[in-house]
Amino acid sequence: MSEAANPFESLQEQVDDAAAHLDVDAGTLARLKNPERVLETNLSVELDDGSVELFRAYRSQFNGARGPYKGGVRYHPQVSRDEVKALSGWMAYKCAVVDIPYGGGKGGIVVDPDDYSEAELERLTRAFATELRPIIGEDRDIPAPDVNTGRREMNWIKDTYETLENTTEPGVVTGKAPDSGGSAGRVEATGRSVMLTAREAFEYLGEDVEGATVAVQGYGNAGSIAARLLEDVGASVVAVSDSGGAAYDPDGLDTRAAKARKNETGEVTDYDAPETLTNEELLTLDVDLLVPAALENAIDGELAHEVEADVIVEAANGPLTPDADDVLADRDVHVYPDILANAGGVTVSYFEWVQNRQRFYWSEERVNEELETVIVDAFDRLTSTLEERDLPNFRTAAYVVAIERVLAASEQSGVWP
Ligand code: NAD
Repeated sequence: MSEAANPFESLQEQVDDAAAHLDVDAGTLARLKNPERVLETNLSVELDDGSVELFRAYRSQFNGARGPYKGGVRYHPQVSRDEVKALSGWMAYKCAVVDIPYGGGKGGIVVDPDDYSEAELERLTRAFATELRPIIGEDRDIPAPDVNTGRREMNWIKDTYETLENTTEPGVVTGKAPDSGGSAGRVEATGRSVMLTAREAFEYLGEDVEGATVAVQGYGNAGSIAARLLEDVGASVVAVSDSGGAAYDPDGLDTRAAKARKNETGEVTDYDAPETLTNEELLTLDVDLLVPAALENAIDGELAHEVEADVIVEAANGPLTPDADDVLADRDVHVYPDILANAGGVTVSYFEWVQNRQRFYWSEERVNEELETVIVDAFDRLTSTLEERDLPNFRTAAYVVAIERVLAASEQSGVWP
């Protein structure tokens, strides 16, 4: 593997690639490539043994032209300022691709949650929420789950915020548990938009996702649900992995049983499959569809030469480096980008926020129907933009659509004279 790409530089390169097809001056381009502000903070947290540990944490607010900043909070030892900046930019353009009224934000804490007790994680999360309090709110910035965070953490953030503000404001975070104002369908939403994007992509290419062979890298929220929903529409999921490796069955796995096994033992490789593979072997399997659903930079320029899949649908944010993108384009691998494919999470977060503000809750059926409409409309808009403007690939088409929407909002409000 070559040296890991800096995700913030990858984001900036993606914006440059799209801006080459737009009439954008240098000052505006710089604005499109940089966050408006980044909070960096050091959280003091008391551990169960009475000692105090310091944790570095960030929140990046990338662009607020289209609405409140919106984006997840990640707990991971590799969280960095540049990673959070990149993820906040991807959120800004993702919200614009699916045309929901949000800007982009992202947060993270440098921590391996496996090393801490639940009580320690609660104190850590509440310390972060206290630092975030002045800059978040349902009309300012709305956190959500990301890697290693979920309903539990969102409920803690909401409770800390509401306690300090002496209010009830469930729309301050999304991805909450149902009894705390969460939406039906939110947990499945990211995997659902991955499945919908794959279905539309295969149809666009004149093929059928039913019967397609699929490999999924990463078996957490996004990956395991995408795998299950793809299996439900008739695809054959032959390999799934987590950080410990991959389970492989050329005849197709039972995605639910694989998830149940991972929940039991913590390792998807404990699922009873005929073979186990390394993650690199999974990424280079000869399958119809590859779904990277773990972290950034899963496939770099070098590995891209060995990818055998025909179609890649990005469930993770930034799983391909710009070098990999170039190699895969040369090799005619069809790539459907993160800012469309995993936008189901933020779209249902938007539905959650709408329901919180109206205090009126929707059925899961309605959530899924509205999500399907948003993703299919966005997909159609990208295909028409790709074809009408003769753009090189779907990622560029997605950024062209998104940047034009962000620019329109900024120009209409006179933000960048
Ligand atoms: P998660 O923590 O639920 O799952 C991550 C999975 O990736 C775990 O199974 C982990 O073992 C695996 N993993 C980590 N490193 C790996 C490696 N090197 N090889 C293989 N597997 C590895 O996280 P998630 O919420 O599913 O997020 C995954 C990706 O999807 C991230 O890029 C995230 O930003 C993106 N995403 C998530 C959501 C959401 O709603 N959860 C929405 C949009 C985008």
